[in-house]
Amino acid sequence: MNTEVILLRFGELMLKGRNRNRFENQIVQQIKRVLKPLGRAVVRTESYGRMYVELNGESHADVERELSKVFGLHSFSRAIKTAPDLEEIRAAARIVMDRLERVPETFRVTVRRVNKQFPHDTFEMHQLLGGYLLESYEGLKVDVHEPQVNVHVEIRHQEAFVYIGTLPGPGGFPLGSNGKAMLMLSGGIDSPVAGWFAMKRGLRIEAVHFHSYPYTSERAKQKVIDLTSVLAEYAGSIMIHMVPFTEIQTRLKESCRENLLITMMRRVMFRITEQLAEQREALAIVTGESLGQVASQTLSSMNVIGRAATLPVLRPLITMDKLEIIAISEKIETYPISILPYEDCCTLFMPKSPSTNPSLKVVEYSEKAMDWLPELIREAVEKTETMWVKPEQKSEEDHLF
Ligand code: ATP
Ligand code: MG
Repeated sequence: MNTEVILLRFGELMLKGRNRNRFENQIVQQIKRVLKPLGRAVVRTESYGRMYVELNGESHADVERELSKVFGLHSFSRAIKTAPDLEEIRAAARIVMDRLERVPETFRVTVRRVNKQFPHDTFEMHQLLGGYLLESYEGLKVDVHEPQVNVHVEIRHQEAFVYIGTLPGPGGFPLGSNGKAMLMLSGGIDSPVAGWFAMKRGLRIEAVHFHSYPYTSERAKQKVIDLTSVLAEYAGSIMIHMVPFTEIQTRLKESCRENLLITMMRRVMFRITEQLAEQREALAIVTGESLGQVASQTLSSMNVIGRAATLPVLRPLITMDKLEIIAISEKIETYPISILPYEDCCTLFMPKSPSTNPSLKVVEYSEKAMDWLPELIREAVEKTETMWVKPEQKSEEDHLF
């Protein structure tokens, strides 16, 4: 019997070594999660490391769209699963050939024979299947070197898979396989993209957002929740920490040189994020910084700001141009939310000419004089509100803008 499936392939690392079972479990969990809304499609794992999704009536496109959210998945192929039997394999090959827009001029057959008991060896199969297809389609020729179409057959113990072509998956590592990090998430374009890259590399993330309520609105807060919700499509639920930052910002504004305000604010943000990281057992901080993009992201600024953190600070966008970042934010669908006009806590307190070359000495000296700062930091951490954000928890209203 023929079954419509999508064959799944993983990165090299997944297939080898001690971590294999753990990786596989994580990825199966994620696949089950993304397939849930589709209802009928199910993921199957075979003892010999073959994983595939049975469509059971769902469309290829719908299933592939969902699979594109599963990191660690490197490629997939639309395939027919059939019995490991010559006639069945021939029939399945006809089906995949008939699905092509037109009959190709040249083709070849590639056979992988995992089941060594299968009565025909690879060489025979090339003849038996290739010959059959040559007879079935007029004008078709064999070209083993540069065929327009390669008909793949994988013969296993219980079943055979027949397919043409491979589509790229999202790549990366399974979610959580590289540990956990705190993502400093503003309402801007960059930090959600940074979060996506971090997850792609196998990091589970928790978001940390600094708000200046009531200077910043509820809507600004909702925007960040909406962004988190889009990121949650790739992770299941994501925890977000909402840090009240108004008092610290106000005090800093009164107490430091205007051109150093952003530098000081960012250092405090790092300190608070680090404390939250410790509570949540995260081992890194992820930001959306990109070298030279704004005054606080010159190398000199990043040096002074970054020294406030002792955990590794990961900056996935560091060498990317704004246009490259925008292209990704469009692809992962955070862009339309990021460009909504609600003000960010830093925009409000933005000095006229922030320093591009702050002095570490001056900054450290000023901070020392702020004896109230540790207490305010402690309070901000204590008053931080935490919630889980699910995929698709977006407020519809916001998308009308
Ligand atoms: P983004 O588009 O991510 O807002 P940006 O280009 O506007 O970035 P900045 O405003 O300088 O850059 O912020 C640099 C980084 O600092 C952000 O990418 C983010 O990781 C972090 N950050 C800035 N503001 C906040 C905030 N209110 N809450 C949490 N993190 C923030
Ligand atoms: Mg910003």
